[in-house]
Amino acid sequence: MNTLLKKTKKGVVALTSLLCLGVSQTICAQTNLAGGSIAKWEDNKSCAVALTFDDWTSGHPAIVVPALKSRGINATFNVVTSMVYDWSSLKSAVADGNELGNHTSTHNSMSISSCQTEVIDAKNLIEMNTGASVTTLAYPYGTYDDNVINFLKSNRFVGARGVYGISNFTYRFAGSDDDYYKLCTVGMDNSVSLEMFKSYIEKTIAGGGMIDYLYHSIYSESVPDASYAQIHQTNFEAQLDALVSYKDKVWITTFSNLIKYHREANSAVLQEIQPQQDGSWIINLVDGLSDNDLYNYPLSVSVYVADSEITSVTQNGKSLAFSISNDSILFKAVPDAGYITIKGVFSGAQEGGQGEDPQVSDKLIGKTAMEITSLIRVGWNLGNSLDANGSSGLSAETSWVGCSKFDSKSCSKNKVV
Ligand SMILES: [Zn+2]
Repeated sequence: MNTLLKKTKKGVVALTSLLCLGVSQTICAQTNLAGGSIAKWEDNKSCAVALTFDDWTSGHPAIVVPALKSRGINATFNVVTSMVYDWSSLKSAVADGNELGNHTSTHNSMSISSCQTEVIDAKNLIEMNTGASVTTLAYPYGTYDDNVINFLKSNRFVGARGVYGISNFTYRFAGSDDDYYKLCTVGMDNSVSLEMFKSYIEKTIAGGGMIDYLYHSIYSESVPDASYAQIHQTNFEAQLDALVSYKDKVWITTFSNLIKYHREANSAVLQEIQPQQDGSWIINLVDGLSDNDLYNYPLSVSVYVADSEITSVTQNGKSLAFSISNDSILFKAVPDAGYITIKGVFSGAQEGGQGEDPQVSDKLIGKTAMEITSLIRVGWNLGNSLDANGSSGLSAETSWVGCSKFDSKSCSKNKVV
């Protein structure tokens, strides 16, 4: 067991031991996987970056979509449905893997009285015309209140972005569920130099958090785009090239993927269902989120296997790609999507404690989502403060609160629309 613990990331051990406080020792001994960890970001990258483009102006289909595609990256386009003149170009952006976010029907300031028409009608129209799934929202002019946030939550939006910056640099950028609906941004225009653009990325790598860049008009001599905050194509593409040069450390993804991953990983645990025996080992990946149709983004998982010979990894019968690195097996699995079976020739039995009876661990699996969530929340605080105080060298209190016009203590005032 000592060997396993040494190989295990500090945060995971802490999470495991804290979870034990909430359940009986018998269940605890077998359900938490000491030799496993869940990456904070996909592929164990240091941080995440999302590029978001608002209002679907002329430069977006003409310049941005091809520039992203040629670099093999994706972004989020926030759509105002009354301003859409060509659904086919949006459909094509979706086919490339880009996300379409909701930027309302008419781009008026948000209020609960108009949410049905501004949010739901826009979402339905985008989904009907493009086949995309709309799960995030960009508030027009950054306007929202608690009623709007509650509306978004009950209508299965995973998060929303304001127009204030700059924060989110550390991993603990969302201390509460509401913070995912108050996310900060870096407003881009010609005043942001390439050096500044890069410095934000480096700060985010150091803090382990995420950054969202907010773009509007991207123009060239042949593509006039003068809606707001114009950036010339040459400068924009230089920023994309700079971003891609950090790809080993930065997960470049859509706003929705980024939020889903963070929410899932923050509340997820690995449990051992059946110790290594008879050539197979069964583990489970669960998170504290009850909407499994929405929170279904695969998490990057690492499980210590020493020098065992692994032949296959499956989840609920479906084959998963895997690789071996530093005596661990790496794969991606969706939380709450069924048991994960690792097959192979194992080098020595793993210590299973009293955990040989899968029926006992099923007692925890069978708990309601609410019960599992409350257990996980016990572990959440320590796991994250260790992260913030450990590798990043930043204090747990460093700018982790999401921000808004009502709560801008960690934000500067560079308001954009
Ligand atoms: Zn806008």
